[in-house]
Amino acid sequence: MIQVLHGNFLYTPSLGTLETVPDGYLVLQDGRTVGIFSELPERFSDAERTDFKNALILPAFTDLHLHAPQYPMLGMGMDLPLLDWLERYTFRTEARFGDPDYARRIYRELAQKLIENGTTRVAMFSSLHTDATLILMEELENAGVSGYVGKVSMDRNSPDYYTESTEQSKRETLRWLKECERFRTVRPILTPRFTPSCSDGLMRWLGDVAREYDLPVQSHLSENHSEIAWVKELAPSCERYWETYARAGLWKPKTLMAHCVYSDEIERKAMRDYGVTAIHCADSNINIASGTAPVRQMLEEGVHVALGSDIAGGAQINMLEVMQMTIRASKFKRMESGWKTDFLSVAEAFYLGTTAGSSYFGAKPGFGEGEPLHAVVIEEGRLPDADRLTLRERFERAVYLSKPQDIVAVYAEGKRVK
Ligand SMILES: [Zn+2]
Repeated sequence: MIQVLHGNFLYTPSLGTLETVPDGYLVLQDGRTVGIFSELPERFSDAERTDFKNALILPAFTDLHLHAPQYPMLGMGMDLPLLDWLERYTFRTEARFGDPDYARRIYRELAQKLIENGTTRVAMFSSLHTDATLILMEELENAGVSGYVGKVSMDRNSPDYYTESTEQSKRETLRWLKECERFRTVRPILTPRFTPSCSDGLMRWLGDVAREYDLPVQSHLSENHSEIAWVKELAPSCERYWETYARAGLWKPKTLMAHCVYSDEIERKAMRDYGVTAIHCADSNINIASGTAPVRQMLEEGVHVALGSDIAGGAQINMLEVMQMTIRASKFKRMESGWKTDFLSVAEAFYLGTTAGSSYFGAKPGFGEGEPLHAVVIEEGRLPDADRLTLRERFERAVYLSKPQDIVAVYAEGKRVK
């Protein structure tokens, strides 16, 4: 079936560039993009048309680091540093997902919330519970969110009520991977919580599984000082934090590492050389006072960077708000550096939250030809004077001021889901 969407198209094909197609037409065949045209070619003139008039049509958002079982504690515990925050809030909240009914209710709401906010692709942490992880994957797939979900592995330094033995962890991971075969658009990703939570034996086993099953990996890296000192104590033979993953075979292309706030030149070079993606979570890093990551520097050095909301360390599920925080954090970094490093522009932050994220899933920049459409449609009805502004100005304002109710349509995997 051929469909045509009409409106103003904007996307960021590369870092710092913003392409616009005002008053354009996007043609879809069976949900896949045929192309964007300034004039609708004659051969498509009879196709079913959805007219979004003067609205902005943008690529949908990607969130490459968030914790689904922390959704109920969004906006809480923000006065605590990372390790206390884990102890006093996070583990208790995540432990509740041993109850499948609770998991079903919360995860259905979360999946809906992601779609309402225009996030259609994710890399997500679940809890350590296999059944709740499968429920999460089902709910995401039903709502139209695609990407990767990981059952969390954690067999040490965890509270009695929320931990697994090494054997149990291995057994449950294999059961989970077997059950995952039934999903189409949500796929498994191996997820050692972070080095302090995983014994050396479990880490190495996960490395073997990653190789054997050809699976991607996600975890945390160099988020805060006390965490880094703890890793050093637990793995004295590793000069730097990243080596604890590398020696287990978990440091490879398609590995996602959240935060990287204190990754030094050598750690950043290891990311670039091995094709590891750094997931910048500005809102979370500021909320729990971890620090501000050297994003500009990473980009200049050729490290692949994408954005994560990191709920519930981050308090914003809306990726436009995460982009704003990314810009503010980069300006703070600039001031902190004595005005030596550049901040991130609006188009650059938007690139990190769309193109950079979707490329992790193999997508082309923008509305890639031949690919299933992932897009959001934003109306600015609440805001004054849209007629007097350029498309670029409207884009900038949309990034700063749009609320979920302004996102009037969302397309994911070629289907309209909002
Ligand atoms: Zn995290």
